[in-house]
Amino acid sequence: MSTLEENLKPSIVLLSTSDLEIEVKELKEQIRNLKENSDAEHLKIEEKIDGVIRGLAWLNIAKSQGMWKSRTCRYMDNDACSAWNVNEPEKLGIPADAVTLEQNGNKRISVLKFPELCISCPLYEAKRTQ
Ligand code: SF4
Repeated sequence: MSTLEENLKPSIVLLSTSDLEIEVKELKEQIRNLKENSDAEHLKIEEKIDGVIRGLAWLNIAKSQGMWKSRTCRYMDNDACSAWNVNEPEKLGIPADAVTLEQNGNKRISVLKFPELCISCPLYEAKRTQ
């Protein structure tokens, strides 16, 4: 394997809690602590809900782009990504039915079942037309 290939050897790291998750947790906390029916508190909660809705809109856009990439990437082989070997897919929230264990011990992810893997993938390359 060349140095360039070594540097590009894919690995996946577990990401910390997303901003959206933090916002939802804060929102739950605010609702739990809501003692008065004051307008000011309602306004704060409304702002939080707006933030969550914006986050969800962003997620939908990201997901649709992930779906597009999963179908057009040259590394998609028999529905699965041939570029990534994900050691602990359960820690990334990848559903078990999207994981295939190969004879050599590599775990491949079906990007048709889990296109989220493609959303921010730096290895994406469009399929070459012949
Ligand atoms: S975009 Fe990335 S994760 Fe998706 S198939 Fe291509 S190489 Fe694999």
